[in-house]
Amino acid sequence: MTFQKLKLIPSLLNNIRDAGYSRPTPIQAATIPLVLAGEDVLGCAQTGTGKTAAFALPILQRMLQDPSPRPDARIIRTLILSPTRELAMQTWENFQLYGKGLPLQSCVIFGGVGQAAQAEALHRGADIVIACPGRLLDLMGQGLIRLDWVEIFVLDEADRMLDMGFIHDVRRVVRALPQKRQTLMFSATMPPEVEKLALDLLTDPENVKVDPVTSTVDAIDQGLYYVDKGNKKHLLIHLLRSENPESALVFSRTRYGVDRIVRDLKKAGIEASGIHGDKSQNARQTALKRFKSGECRILVATDIAARGIDVAGLSHVINYDLPMEPEAYIHRIGRTGRAGRDGKAISFCCIDEVKQLNQVEKLIGKRLREEHSDWPMEITTPSEPKVREPRPAKVNAAGQPLPPRKPAVRPVRHSRELPAPPAASRQAASGRRSRSGSSVYGQPVRRKKR
Ligand code: AMP
Repeated sequence: MTFQKLKLIPSLLNNIRDAGYSRPTPIQAATIPLVLAGEDVLGCAQTGTGKTAAFALPILQRMLQDPSPRPDARIIRTLILSPTRELAMQTWENFQLYGKGLPLQSCVIFGGVGQAAQAEALHRGADIVIACPGRLLDLMGQGLIRLDWVEIFVLDEADRMLDMGFIHDVRRVVRALPQKRQTLMFSATMPPEVEKLALDLLTDPENVKVDPVTSTVDAIDQGLYYVDKGNKKHLLIHLLRSENPESALVFSRTRYGVDRIVRDLKKAGIEASGIHGDKSQNARQTALKRFKSGECRILVATDIAARGIDVAGLSHVINYDLPMEPEAYIHRIGRTGRAGRDGKAISFCCIDEVKQLNQVEKLIGKRLREEHSDWPMEITTPSEPKVREPRPAKVNAAGQPLPPRKPAVRPVRHSRELPAPPAASRQAASGRRSRSGSSVYGQPVRRKKR
């Protein structure tokens, strides 16, 4: 298959060639003709498959070929909704790349930064808007943006959008769109809520399914270290020194964890930047820019902040903490081994994460290859869950208390409800042994002195 066979126009073919793509990826080969034919599409594709070009290229072509309903003014004809700022930026950059030299303007809208520049870009006129739901609704409320002329609507990473609690925002945006439109919806996973949303938004959609989320990219080498929580930093420093990765994205489960890892690495003389939701948009963008340019080779991030990070040749993904949801493992490791390149994913697992590890292995249908280090797992008793004190109430700029957040409904786990000691399940099934030859889990519990 070639891009010429997909009937793309010469100006797009030139831009594709300049981007260095020689042939379409499977999702592009399947999706581009459908979008060009004006069909609604429900695409199930994991990250790194070339999904953005699969919708961006035919959208650009349709917008060039179909006359604008308002030739007298620049109106928003395409709206793309992204769950995170990073993904919105990434998508916008891709539109710039694929639409180079074309008479179409695009702009990107997200919160966390002042709105003046975005309002100004909208005022100048944009044919394509890539937006996160919160700021978009904000600008709509201020009368700065109208969606009455939208012909093509893309809902990207729908599963993530729902996970992040944006479902009501998405529905509010959809209500402001014309009924008659083309809708494309992409999601890495298809849980029932996403299917329900698809039924509501799409009309007779064509389904495109490429690399379901359970099949991790084959080119990625996936290793696993059992290591105690307190030794993870030593193992990380050792691996970064010994493997000397070209670029490594390190995942931490919490924002606090990101900051602590960056500090530990700095202490060890390893330059690293961190991104998470508590950092300002400018700090996040600077960190990303330094990482992408190769100025800083190590980026530490939480899952949400890392969405949309696309760095050519990202060589390593390190799961310092295993994710709470197994699907996130696939999103994470999809950051490496992109578009056919080789990549390496390394996961750390302490005794408290064995349950998550089991879930990941069940989802991907295989066991991660166990690696050994000088810091084998020695603590084999899961820690008691911490009792969290309620945080002090937050206040707004005027010093008034903000309405309290809904408490997260989490089942309280008592120690007897913890998964059965892994010795029975994991070790019996795998016959795994630690480096010393004795069972990983059968060791007496030795707690490190603080
Ligand atoms: P995406 O899944 O859209 O995030 O794309 C993942 C990566 O694949 C990006 O770095 C794209 O630049 C790259 N890419 C997209 N399409 C192709 C293609 N046909 N050939 C090679 N690389 C591609």
